[in-house]
Amino acid sequence: MIEHPANTISTLFSNEVKNRPFLIAGPCGAESKEQIMSSALFLKSQGVSLLRAGVWKARSRPNSFEGHGIEALGWLNEMRSEINMPFAVEVAKAEHVDEVLKQECDVIWIGARTSVNPFLIQEIADALNGVKIPVLIKNPVNPDLDLWQGAIERIYKSRNKQVAAIHRGFSSYENKTYRNKPNWEIPIELKRRLPEIPLICDPSHITGKRSMVPFVSQIAMDLNFNGLMIEVHPQPDTALSDAKQQLSFDEFAQFRKQLIIRKLTTEDVFELSKLEDLRDQIDEIDQEVINTLAKRMKVARAIGSYKVKNNITIYQPQRWKEIMETRTRLGMEQQLSKEFLEKLYSIIHTESIEQQSSVMSSSPKNIEANTSENQKA
Ligand code: PEP
Ligand code: MN
Repeated sequence: MIEHPANTISTLFSNEVKNRPFLIAGPCGAESKEQIMSSALFLKSQGVSLLRAGVWKARSRPNSFEGHGIEALGWLNEMRSEINMPFAVEVAKAEHVDEVLKQECDVIWIGARTSVNPFLIQEIADALNGVKIPVLIKNPVNPDLDLWQGAIERIYKSRNKQVAAIHRGFSSYENKTYRNKPNWEIPIELKRRLPEIPLICDPSHITGKRSMVPFVSQIAMDLNFNGLMIEVHPQPDTALSDAKQQLSFDEFAQFRKQLIIRKLTTEDVFELSKLEDLRDQIDEIDQEVINTLAKRMKVARAIGSYKVKNNITIYQPQRWKEIMETRTRLGMEQQLSKEFLEKLYSIIHTESIEQQSSVMSSSPKNIEANTSENQKA
């Protein structure tokens, strides 16, 4: 029984937010024909538009499950003939592109270990030249927005205009909460730079644990992402890859019921005026923030002149330690987080140092010293 009607793939590329979320789901890897069939039957009934399943798995360590390759493409093809659900697989090189085109795969995605390498991306872009197949491009493993944008541009230039981006988080050595840190500012900036490219969130690879998948999906929806790609498996605990992050069918059904899709705006004029009022307050406060920062930098430049006159170094570790301690304490008393305050003050401090050094390097005393050094040389 179809409980939720699915969007067609073209609704994703028409970029209509009213059809959100465009749902892609399925196992991390295609493990057997039965697994593909049961997943597709269930996910279609849940309004999922596209079945995902990796057939070539790039693994960190050897001797792990590396996918069933062409045989698995055959299972997916049979699934589509029987169940009429489109499917997507990951490609990591030109050879994969040739294979998926033979099987008339509906959509392909490029993984994080591939988008990190412009040579591989170019190879895939060349293999796709002139071919009209939708391509979803995951962010590279490291938090490098230009690299992600570059991968999108290379594929887009191969005359393949149906391109979307998938945010799957960024690797970091010591993060315990997430498998891959979301760094939400990066996909938000990508959307600002490339507004016509639909944005999909992959909460499974961001969180690495199934209990957090609904939470991260909700954030993505509240940030106006167009869709979600979620790993779902008939028996997640025995999955051959990414067992901890895949949802069971029951968990997926529960998650679908709980996901809230908020509107972009409200039509209620009274409510809208309240929002406008709050935005006016933010505009005024930002004006004050900028004036205050400018005043602070002016004082920093005065300190720079003082230091050059008295021949002392710019960086004073004791003073910096004291600033960090007192400011984080002050801020925390007013409900600001320690992490935010530390980041904020380290940016302010770096800028102060730069402003001080520009005063010092342009001071007449320094110019004199440099000139006499040059004359000696
Ligand atoms: C995947 O989607 O199964 C996968 C390997 O993801 P990523 O490239 O994001 O690690
Ligand atoms: Mn996976």
